[in-house]
Amino acid sequence: FFPNVRLESESPLSVAARTGEPLWLESRPEYLARFPSFAPKVIHALGAHALACLPLSVEGRLVGALAFGFDRPHAFTAHERAFALTLARQCAQALERVQLLDHERQTKEAARFLAQASTRLSESLDLKTTLDTLSSLLVPTLADMLTVHLARPDGSLVLELASHTDPSQQPRLLQSLTGEAKPLQPNWEELELGLARLRGKRSGTPSRNQSEVLRRALETVSAVSWLVVPLRSRGRTLGALSLGRLSAPFNTHQVEQAEELGRRAALAVDNAGLYALELSSRKRTERLLDRTDGLQRLTAAISRALTTQEVAAVVVRQGLEVLGAQNGAVWLLTPDGRGLELLQVEHGDPVMVRDFRRLLLAADVPISEAVRTRAPVWVEAWEKQQHRYPAASEWMRTPPNGLSMACLPLEAENRVFGGLAFSFEGSRRFSDEDRGFLEVLAGICAQGLERARLYESERRARERLALLASASEQLAASLEYETTLQTVAGLGVPALADFCFLDVRDSEGEVRRVARAASERKQALLAGTRWAHSDHPELNLCALSSGKTALHPEIDDAWRRKVAGGPEHLALLQQLELRSMLSVPLRSNGRLLGALTLCYGESERHHTEEDVQLAEELARRAAAGVENARLFQQSQQAIRLRDDFLSIAGHELNTPLTSLKLQVDSLRARPHEPDQAKRKLEKASQQISRLAKLVSALLDVSRITGGRLKLEPQPMDLGHTVREVANRLAEELNRSGSELRVHADEGVVGNWDSFRMDQVVTNLLSNAIKYGQGRGIEVSVKAEPDKATLVVKDGGIGIAPEAQPRLFQRFARAVSDRHYGGFGLGLWIVKQVVEAHGGDIKVQSQPGDGSTFVVQLPRKDAPASGPGSAG
Ligand code: ADP
Repeated sequence: FFPNVRLESESPLSVAARTGEPLWLESRPEYLARFPSFAPKVIHALGAHALACLPLSVEGRLVGALAFGFDRPHAFTAHERAFALTLARQCAQALERVQLLDHERQTKEAARFLAQASTRLSESLDLKTTLDTLSSLLVPTLADMLTVHLARPDGSLVLELASHTDPSQQPRLLQSLTGEAKPLQPNWEELELGLARLRGKRSGTPSRNQSEVLRRALETVSAVSWLVVPLRSRGRTLGALSLGRLSAPFNTHQVEQAEELGRRAALAVDNAGLYALELSSRKRTERLLDRTDGLQRLTAAISRALTTQEVAAVVVRQGLEVLGAQNGAVWLLTPDGRGLELLQVEHGDPVMVRDFRRLLLAADVPISEAVRTRAPVWVEAWEKQQHRYPAASEWMRTPPNGLSMACLPLEAENRVFGGLAFSFEGSRRFSDEDRGFLEVLAGICAQGLERARLYESERRARERLALLASASEQLAASLEYETTLQTVAGLGVPALADFCFLDVRDSEGEVRRVARAASERKQALLAGTRWAHSDHPELNLCALSSGKTALHPEIDDAWRRKVAGGPEHLALLQQLELRSMLSVPLRSNGRLLGALTLCYGESERHHTEEDVQLAEELARRAAAGVENARLFQQSQQAIRLRDDFLSIAGHELNTPLTSLKLQVDSLRARPHEPDQAKRKLEKASQQISRLAKLVSALLDVSRITGGRLKLEPQPMDLGHTVREVANRLAEELNRSGSELRVHADEGVVGNWDSFRMDQVVTNLLSNAIKYGQGRGIEVSVKAEPDKATLVVKDGGIGIAPEAQPRLFQRFARAVSDRHYGGFGLGLWIVKQVVEAHGGDIKVQSQPGDGSTFVVQLPRKDAPASGPGSAG
């Protein structure tokens, strides 16, 4: 009946408790007199006649009140009163002890709970685990349902968690709180001011600040009490957790506990956020490190690349790998600075690659713009930006999910020389980090390319020198005119041309063409071509017409159509795939000999200024080579004419000489001629013999040089020949005063031409007499099993060492014509004859100390016949 009694009410219990004095009501009239308004209710309810009310207090602190009722009037004796008071005191003490214990237990439990909660919350570092932990701590210990809202940077609140004791109710809770589709977004004031302590009852009147959404939500989930705790950390509100109960409302203690837990949860959520931030920045760092690592590998790879092509390939591949780009490419500025030429491309669409191979710097293309403005061009969504690049949008194929591009200029030493581009499938935002990385990549690429360019130019310089050296060597290898022309035509391939031709004008003004090509197919195409005057002198197409170097490095179909002399010519130019042409004149002593025309086709290379210099240098050497060969050819012709003349003259002279000699000899043989006439005839006969010898030497020269020296080898005795010759020359020996000694082995027989052997011995012995100064002459003939040796030794004037090497050459003489007549042909003929027999001849001599000629002849395997050589 009186479950709750207000302390300030006018009831006996309240009065006793309030006053701290026991109240003894011994009868109904007394009761009614003291508590007229209250007594009838008590009497009616309890049917009591007497009542004792005692305050329960410990050291003046009220803890409660105690009442005893009696069903008949009762006079409280002094003893009874004392007993009741003692009982009340003991009861109060017992109650207080229990209360204290209870409180202590609760406090301990709360502390343990909080400690445990703190530990568990601090264990998790990611948001989801933190929220799950929170949910397992609060539901069902403190509440039957829990929701957590977290604030987004833009200030909105997002429901992160909804948890219910009964898992089947969870979706309902979630749905109730998220409304139709939109997440619950209570405003901040509502949360912090109004809802923080809201304890609304489902059936009770909702708090004034309670939002309609929340009210409906509470109804849906049947919550009787709802507590919203803000999550605050480091002065910022991170969000709020809301707790709902299905039965009893939250008590103060639970509210405090929830608030305490809210503080710890806020810390955990804050930490999880910080950790996530740290994690993402760590990931970024890792990505950066990854990229840095990539850059390091790139630098290493670039340092190994030797050509610009290799450098570009390395950069593009690395870029693709690190950036995950779809394709990438590098362009270089053309030498005239007006275009871009594709150097390297990876994973490019072949059609697009063809369109992007050569670009004008002025073109509406992102890469051209990047190089032109020397600033990166970031195309994050091609679909949206392509209107700015009308030219490119014609060729570019946009994949269904979009396209993005990064185009960067390549600069080194403050000079822009190309561009680097990557394209990505799908639109993409280039973060500062991406941009930084790409710019660093472009920088490294530029440095690498510049280094490779320098290296290449240095290598090209070396190659040019090597080419010129080899050209000189090849040209020096032959004096043959035809060979030289072929050599010159071949000089430019492949260093300066895929195919080339040499046009030479002969003395009659006829132009001959010699061609050379790298491939057989082109060789065949070139075979039928011939030089013709160009219909376009203004274009300077051929150096043979203009006498000037002609350079056409950029040849396209329009150009080919313009210069072609007709459909056939055009077809030829197209088949040759002519793309670049360089024609250099060949000049010698100011005379235009011809032109070397170097062409690029299938290699798609283009001639540069550097090539022009090299080609001109090559042409100078080629011209010298051609001129030399031409002169040589002419001199050969002159020699041939002279030899023919000698041969004819020799024969023509021989005929009258022979008859003259016969007549003189017949006169000499007549017995009645006076002595004086006989002496004169003898002299005449000697002169005729000498003349005949000279004529025969001349004939030998033309025979031998004309390759008409015919040997007729047969077994003969060399000693025998020596003695015969000695006899024949007895008269001369006599006149000279030299004494001849002959040492000949018996039977030095060999298979030799006896007429020619006679000639050898005669020439050597004649020389010994002629240059012997009247001193003794020794001739010896020795036989060994496989060879015979003839030695002719005199003690005469000897021969200077420097004259000895050329002694056996045609017309070589070591003496002055004034002192000693002669043609300088004798030794040459001897050497030709000896060598035609497979033998050899040597001379040993000291000036003033005589000369020794040693002839060695093989005795076996002597050639049946042997051609003379035109030495
Ligand atoms: P030629 O005697 O008609 O001049 P050769 O060919 O026989 O022509 O000789 C060439 C040259 O060699 C001579 O001019 C001479 O200077 C030198 N010569 C040849 N034989 C002797 C020799 N026995 N002693 C010194 N000089 C010689």
